[in-house]
Amino acid sequence: MSKTKEQRIKKLKKNRIWPSILGLILILLISALVLALVMAASAVDIVQRKLIDSVMTSTKIADLFEDYDSSSKENIEREILSHIDILDEVIAVSVTDTEKKPVWSSNGEYPTDDNVITEELVQEVTDKEIGIIIDNDENQMFTIDDEGILINENIFIDIWESEDFSATVPFTSMTLWLVVPVNDMEVMVLNNIPLYHQDFLMTLVTIILCGMLIAVFVIYYLISFVSMVLRVRKTTKIIYTDMVTGGDNWLLFIKKGTALLKKNKKAQLNYAMLHMEMRKYRSFCTCFGVNKGQELIEKFYTALKKEIQRKEVMAHQENAAFGLLLTYTEKADLEARIQKIEAALNTVLPGMKMYFGTGIYLVQQDERDVEQLYNNAMIACEMAGEESENSIAYFDVEMNNQKLWERKVEDDMDRALANREFQVYLQPKISTSEETLGGAEALVRWIHPTEGFIPPNRFIPIFEKNGFILKLDDYMLEEVARVQSEWLAEGRRLVPISVNVSRAHFTREDLAEHICSIVDKYQVPHSVIELELTESAFFDDKNVLLNTVHKLREAGFQVSMDDFGAGYSSLNSLKELQLDVLKIDADFFRGADAEERGLLIVSEVIDLAKKLNMKIVAEGIESKEQVEFLTEQECDLIQGYFYAKPMPVTEFAQKYSV
Ligand code: C2E
Ligand code: CA
Ligand code: CA
Repeated sequence: MSKTKEQRIKKLKKNRIWPSILGLILILLISALVLALVMAASAVDIVQRKLIDSVMTSTKIADLFEDYDSSSKENIEREILSHIDILDEVIAVSVTDTEKKPVWSSNGEYPTDDNVITEELVQEVTDKEIGIIIDNDENQMFTIDDEGILINENIFIDIWESEDFSATVPFTSMTLWLVVPVNDMEVMVLNNIPLYHQDFLMTLVTIILCGMLIAVFVIYYLISFVSMVLRVRKTTKIIYTDMVTGGDNWLLFIKKGTALLKKNKKAQLNYAMLHMEMRKYRSFCTCFGVNKGQELIEKFYTALKKEIQRKEVMAHQENAAFGLLLTYTEKADLEARIQKIEAALNTVLPGMKMYFGTGIYLVQQDERDVEQLYNNAMIACEMAGEESENSIAYFDVEMNNQKLWERKVEDDMDRALANREFQVYLQPKISTSEETLGGAEALVRWIHPTEGFIPPNRFIPIFEKNGFILKLDDYMLEEVARVQSEWLAEGRRLVPISVNVSRAHFTREDLAEHICSIVDKYQVPHSVIELELTESAFFDDKNVLLNTVHKLREAGFQVSMDDFGAGYSSLNSLKELQLDVLKIDADFFRGADAEERGLLIVSEVIDLAKKLNMKIVAEGIESKEQVEFLTEQECDLIQGYFYAKPMPVTEFAQKYSV
């Protein structure tokens, strides 16, 4: 698979799962941070508020010491004690002088230096500017600053875990001394700051709301994430599904096949790549419709699936072709298995015999390019030809060379025609009665700039397949008409020159008019042009053939049947088609046992042709004996190496100074 194709498919499948996972993590992190901030901020706020209250109470108590002297001492002390009784949050009040010498204490306790909150600190706390250090019952500390909050986690946990949740009982409390200077004394108030659950109720509600909001968000995100994962899986499934069979498609075949071949590193298994196709699938579709054809492919797929074993893969390729990557031990076993598979496929449509062509490529160690391997298997099948029987063909390098040659021919043909690389060679037809020139056949030769001389059997079959033969035949006809017109102008005696008209032409109804128009450009009499048809033209539209031949003969052209006797039932075509010339195929004169029987048939054919008023040309004549025999049989013309091989037009003109 090409890199870009692979990337495109990857892109299709990817569907951004990673950004979603990242997004989820980010959401969770942000949510945790927001929750922590909300919790911390409200905790700090509550503690700060409580502190401010304590500071205010302590300041009010300290104010009572404004007039503290020997006379008022007792009254003030009594008043303070009554305050301590009434106020829950005040535990004790102690007074020292500036040298820190105890003056008075409600309970005889004085703060030590490091658990006292100084006046400045109190001031700062009331201004809510900076944090505070609190020493509570358990001697634990926590710190709050003005920007954010740094809470000693221990106390935080302690706060929550210290008591059962209760509406009235504080779950924890902080005890701290607040110091307020009054005159030349320092009044220290030991505060008890209780923290109730209710204080945190709002925080709790906010946290729950925030939590719920975040949960909704996260759930929504999770749902969309899961649905995206499902969507990705679905897309992947679609990418790997064949639209005709509903099963694995070609892409998956390549993927799985490559994986299998990669795993088979030490070549524990022998693999064979198969291209298996149903013969005449197009005809089936023409007869029964495309839908029925597709149904058939789907049934083939199901049947094939049953034949596939572990560590093997199979998929529909296109039309009626399937790719199979099978394991095997011996070639004979593999072939037996293919026959078994073909038999299984034949059960799909009871009552109808179907034939399959199979191309096989035996995979070598380290070969993993599934597409290339399949291509080889396909070439093997293609080269075996379109037979009407089951066939199995193995790929060999020669096939690849042939394929490459076909490609080159197709690449070069248009240029070759434009550059006049195709040349007319003429082969004489010699009259048996006078041993003089009685006609000629025009045969094409390709003089390729790099490949040199190329005989027609190397390119005509390719052109017949790709349709280029239509252009080439027209070109040959035109060249022959041009040569004849030149010779006519030069005052030479003209003999008929035959050109080959390929079967492919007989699809056009105006073929006769088309031929006339080409020849008439050169104003040569039609009688000097002969058109050679092969019997295979009968297999196409018979009416077009009959009409065309009729029109051509009416127009004065001579029409001959080429290769008479080669292959098909020739006599039948003679019955329906009125022609001028019969060309007896060279095959009659070849082969070991052809001699007697062949010659007997030839003499009978000649006889028959004479009765049908046709001229006879014997082709491929190489020996004197053949010439003598044909002369005896009164065959009209002889064409063959015995007299001359096909030659360039100029050479022909010199040799047969017509
Ligand atoms: P074909 O029309 O049957 O042409 C006769 C072939 O037999 C020619 O082969 C000719 O060179 C060869 N031949 C002639 N005498 C002898 C002989 O004594 N012994 C042997 N062994 N062969 C002999 P060529 O030129 O190679 O052409 C092969 C075929 O290619 C032709 O068979 C014809 O079917 C096709 N072809 C050639 N030129 C054209 C063309 O311009 N158009 C079309 N449509 N087909 C062409
Ligand atoms: Ca011919
Ligand atoms: Ca022939």
